[in-house]
Amino acid sequence: MGHLPLGWSALKHLIVLGATGSIGRQTIEVARRIGLPIHTIAARSASDVLLELAMSLPDARVCVVDPADRQDEFRAVLGERLHLGKGSITEAAATPDSTVVNGIVGAEGLAPTLAALYADNRLALANKESLVAGGPLVLQALHERDGELVPIDSEHSAIWQCLQGERHGDVSRVILTASGGPFLGWNVDELEAVTPAQALDHPTWNMGPRISVDSATLMNKAFEVIEAHYLFGFTYDRIDVVIHPQSLVHSFVEFADGVVKAEVGRPDMRKPIQYAITTPSRLGTEFQPFDPVEAEWTFAYPDREAFPSLELGYAAGRSGGTATAVLNAADEVAVESFLGGRIGFIDIPRVVERVLDRHEARRPLGLEDLMAVDAEARAHAREVCASLER
Ligand code: MG
Repeated sequence: MGHLPLGWSALKHLIVLGATGSIGRQTIEVARRIGLPIHTIAARSASDVLLELAMSLPDARVCVVDPADRQDEFRAVLGERLHLGKGSITEAAATPDSTVVNGIVGAEGLAPTLAALYADNRLALANKESLVAGGPLVLQALHERDGELVPIDSEHSAIWQCLQGERHGDVSRVILTASGGPFLGWNVDELEAVTPAQALDHPTWNMGPRISVDSATLMNKAFEVIEAHYLFGFTYDRIDVVIHPQSLVHSFVEFADGVVKAEVGRPDMRKPIQYAITTPSRLGTEFQPFDPVEAEWTFAYPDREAFPSLELGYAAGRSGGTATAVLNAADEVAVESFLGGRIGFIDIPRVVERVLDRHEARRPLGLEDLMAVDAEARAHAREVCASLER
């Protein structure tokens, strides 16, 4: 994060990628609340939700990766506002003078992330796979251009806010909080029987299916450890994880003199989204006040035996380069297989571990090279999933 944030007033265009997802919809809500026009909404498919959003935003450009059989219908309603294909998303991300909110799920978010940064835009990043899969490429883009990267992920927004006015070298450790997911306290035997419906029922955060399963396995936290490494430049031995089921403390930063800062409040993604858009300003908006007297909070160390994904994340992170792209690709495939009822819940980290074991980490040469690594890891993960099918 080598760049000073642009002033709030400097923001010209708001581009929302992944507009129909949880982050995208909350971004649109925030924009409406603070009176900010939306320039572009983008989504993977031509869904009813997208059409409804598009009709409620009559000035917005609408990008759809794959409209399938609804192209004519969308064209009839949206006319010239409609832009199609994968390229329309990267083009939207490269709109000059923009803040690009990347709420895409999965490694597909990497290309638009790079496009936004190479166009010198502010990238408000919720797509953690951009950093997990493509951390070295994102750092290179930041180094070469004047784009700005700000986190939306609640833990990283917290760390970022705690770091303001501090010197990097004075930080001794960051501690990411994790809710622990719906299976906190369960042992391996109990986890064996977990169903997709159970895994999708997250206790404190309301999120999409992939991230809900990743939260349940703690893979999401593994990704966030890697995300923190690339965002803030801390080595992995300075990034810790603690379980905090109430999600009230969004993360801690500990300094050399023993002082610890935290960012605290009710779990509500609209806060980090708004701050990522308006930073360095804080705009007054309606929110549910935080009452420390009513708050009850507890902390515990993660159970690394029942939830091996966390260790897999640290191991891949330390290998660096392409290893974390493989971690992500294998996990995407394993989660899909689990949600489809083809493999069990505890098979997810098994698949990831086997795919990682066969990969030799190296520096990615560019986006194309990385996508080839990603495709190879997916193919291998599918093989492993098939061998585990019950
Ligand atoms: Mg998070």
